[in-house]
Amino acid sequence: MEFGFYMPTRVKIGKNCVLKNSDDFKIGTKALIVTGKSSAVNGALDDVLNVLNKNNTEFVIFDKVMSNPTVECVYEGAEVAVEEEVDFVIAIGGGSPMDAAKAVALLAVSDLDRIQLFGSDIGHRALPMIHIPTTAGTGSEVTPYSILTNHEKQTKKSIASDCLFPQYAFLDAKYMQSISHDVMVNTAIDALSHSVEGMLSVKANIMSDIVAAEAIRLISSQFKNLKEGIADKEILLYAAMLGGVVISQTKTTAVHAMGYPLTYFKNIDHGRANGLLLGEFMKYTEKYEPLRVKKILSVMGIENTAEFKNIFIELLGKRDNFSVDELEMYSYISEDTGGVKNSIHRPNVDEILEIYTKSLID
Ligand code: NAP
Ligand code: ZN
Repeated sequence: MEFGFYMPTRVKIGKNCVLKNSDDFKIGTKALIVTGKSSAVNGALDDVLNVLNKNNTEFVIFDKVMSNPTVECVYEGAEVAVEEEVDFVIAIGGGSPMDAAKAVALLAVSDLDRIQLFGSDIGHRALPMIHIPTTAGTGSEVTPYSILTNHEKQTKKSIASDCLFPQYAFLDAKYMQSISHDVMVNTAIDALSHSVEGMLSVKANIMSDIVAAEAIRLISSQFKNLKEGIADKEILLYAAMLGGVVISQTKTTAVHAMGYPLTYFKNIDHGRANGLLLGEFMKYTEKYEPLRVKKILSVMGIENTAEFKNIFIELLGKRDNFSVDELEMYSYISEDTGGVKNSIHRPNVDEILEIYTKSLID
């Protein structure tokens, strides 16, 4: 046996966990709250402001984070952090505000240009962070990744460093009461995808597999409820966090790498993009690693990969339109990415095109 495991984020789960743990918010003297246009208006911002006022902690709000945050947005946030001399960051929202907050926390203390930002030498420092997820999908609250839209590369690119692990994550499903049906479905699929991909990663280990299997079991138990709009949000929030724990060890695979161009060029939601591709990637991997795939199917209580693919067809509804030319371009963009290289069986460019075509056109 040979493997390592690192998970430095202190996670607190449960109703009113922010209000009940106000002392944990004393990790600095002035906070930058990083959030999106609507992701804070669900009670989360009120609770945080309540706690900061109780602690006599100063704060500034940066609420300009859009879905799939851009490099420009995080430099703007970092400028505010420096000007306002904040010494910690509080992220409130889905994966977009949480990922933006990580890059802001990094850029607030490190003078990195746009090329260095995505390089391997970003240093080891970032402002301390508290993350409050308001979607049940990305698990970004427990990962060391920040994924940003990079127009120069015409896709989404990851920044990865242990210094991007938040110090605290507070998970309270009460913030998810007014979430839309589509966001609920897409984010649940993203969370499932993290755990499935974690089990199909070259970095999978016995511990990440245990966590992934539990997340897959929990999310699968909610598929029927998701369709009917009555999913248990607390279970999904917990399972999404477990999925984050998984990819913090294993990273994601070809599914995420191939999903990024769908989001970049067609504005397809991150979780939906993964869900459109996951079925065919499982079928592809089954040819080379049948036992791994069987293990995932058995956790879900299903017989075969056709049944697996069908779950996503039913959840995602009508497919988006793609041309062969578009899929060829996406195949070349995805081919040389870390995600593709991280897959237990690595598809070449022709196989990537085949997975795209079978997923999106056939
Ligand atoms: P999101 O872009 O953060 O949010 C999707 C939508 O839901 C937005 O319109 C958002 O509004 C809204 N929303 C969020 N919380 C809400 C709530 N409680 N009630 C009502 N509406 C709410 O989507 P996401 O799927 O959570 O995150 C996707 C991003 O995470 C992508 O950029 C993806 O690449 C990244 N990601 C990161 C990791 C990682 O490990 N770091 C892993 C997977 C994915 P606002 O826009 O107004 O906030
Ligand atoms: Zn994801």
